[in-house]
Amino acid sequence: MSQSIQSVRGMNDILPGESESWDLFEDSVRSWLKSYGYRKIRLPLVEPTPLFTRAIGEVTDIVEKEMYSFEDSLNGERLTLRPEGTAGCVRAVIQHNLAAQRPQRLYYMGPMFRHERPQKGRYRQFNQVGVEAFGFAGPDIDAEQILMGGRLWDELDLDGVRLEINSLGQPEERAKYRAELAAYFEKHAGVLDEDARRRLHTNPLRILDSKNPAMREMIAGAPRLVGHLGAASMAHFEGLQQILRDVGQPYEINPRLVRGLDYYNLTVFEWVTDRLGAQGTVCAGGRYDGLVGQLGGKPTPACGFAMGVERLVMLMREQDGEPEPEAPDVYLVHQGDAAQRVAPRVAEGLRSEGIDVIFHCGGGSFKSQMKKADASGAAFAVIIGDEEARAGEVSLKALRAESGWRDEQKYEQKREQRRVSVDRLVDEIIDAFLDGDDV
Ligand code: ATP
Ligand code: MG
Repeated sequence: MSQSIQSVRGMNDILPGESESWDLFEDSVRSWLKSYGYRKIRLPLVEPTPLFTRAIGEVTDIVEKEMYSFEDSLNGERLTLRPEGTAGCVRAVIQHNLAAQRPQRLYYMGPMFRHERPQKGRYRQFNQVGVEAFGFAGPDIDAEQILMGGRLWDELDLDGVRLEINSLGQPEERAKYRAELAAYFEKHAGVLDEDARRRLHTNPLRILDSKNPAMREMIAGAPRLVGHLGAASMAHFEGLQQILRDVGQPYEINPRLVRGLDYYNLTVFEWVTDRLGAQGTVCAGGRYDGLVGQLGGKPTPACGFAMGVERLVMLMREQDGEPEPEAPDVYLVHQGDAAQRVAPRVAEGLRSEGIDVIFHCGGGSFKSQMKKADASGAAFAVIIGDEEARAGEVSLKALRAESGWRDEQKYEQKREQRRVSVDRLVDEIIDAFLDGDDV
């Protein structure tokens, strides 16, 4: 036998058993976004490479070392598997002139690609839900997007996700701070790692974002940006905090929160948990007023965030375990030539009425088929032998007492296997349940 091929490292299969948690998460996310008036935008997985270098910034983890870039062998175009969604979303907003008439609230979800060292909570293909708003300049939208996070954790029953916020001010305000910061890091050149030394003069703010424990203490002593913010930036930051206080959303100001991407200004925020080890940020975002202009659009204020789906699903599963797989309503057992001719039609008929059916495939004795019916968790077995088939009937037997029955009596009634005509089958099944709509 030849050797089997494995998936690419850091790009995972999500198997049944886990995929149910993903569905649960995605269903919650969709109704949560709707409740805030965000509309879905579906974006390509591949974009021209310059989009990311221009949007994200040359001196960032992503552009320096994490992008999957390649040349289109047919036309030589430089392309990149999207490492994040904001750049593509902004490109689409500009390309289709979306924000010209009115502000936009948009979201997307799907896989992102970054060439990182795979570990718990960090993968090379991972999924984000991204939320972006265009055309709102005030702190009210920043607050809305922050409060959205809090509501989702509530809806998913996730405890212990805390909020950190900071303000990065405006680029001019950061320029002075940058020089001061670089001077401080120069004084501590001995503790800087290779990344930090390289960034010292190109992007010293990025050093604040380092995850290297050896630099933690030195970084903790670094000068703070907040002293450099002008009155307008301070008012924006104060306005945001006022709303958070009014709504009763607890937060912590983290002066070292600078975010990994260059495009942010004013508000930045992260939702963090201690339950996932080192990879504790489950959601991160902020304001990026300069980006639309920087990518060639008419300057438009904007603000957004992205959640790491793998990390959130991991949290859900650590708290609640695996959701029960959904059992079918009916397992259809059949044997004999005449039965075989009618069984598929019976199954399709049931499905037309909204009843979920697993159709037994692969033959076998009634006894072995009934075992599979039991194991499937189905509420009913519908049994068709040649005799039933010829009479235009089926046998119906209730299999499970647990859920869905109108009352105990109904279950007892249906537990006895009995013959019903094919025409009556749907009514017989619906009649037994608490609410016919649920079947
Ligand atoms: P980090 O500092 O952990 O590398 P980041 O700043 O690069 O994070 P963002 O670009 O802000 O992350 O992405 C938003 C969210 O997406 C993160 O908070 C995280 O939950 C998730 N995320 C980012 N990179 C990965 C990855 N490689 N694997 C899984 N989830 C990720
Ligand atoms: Mg990163």
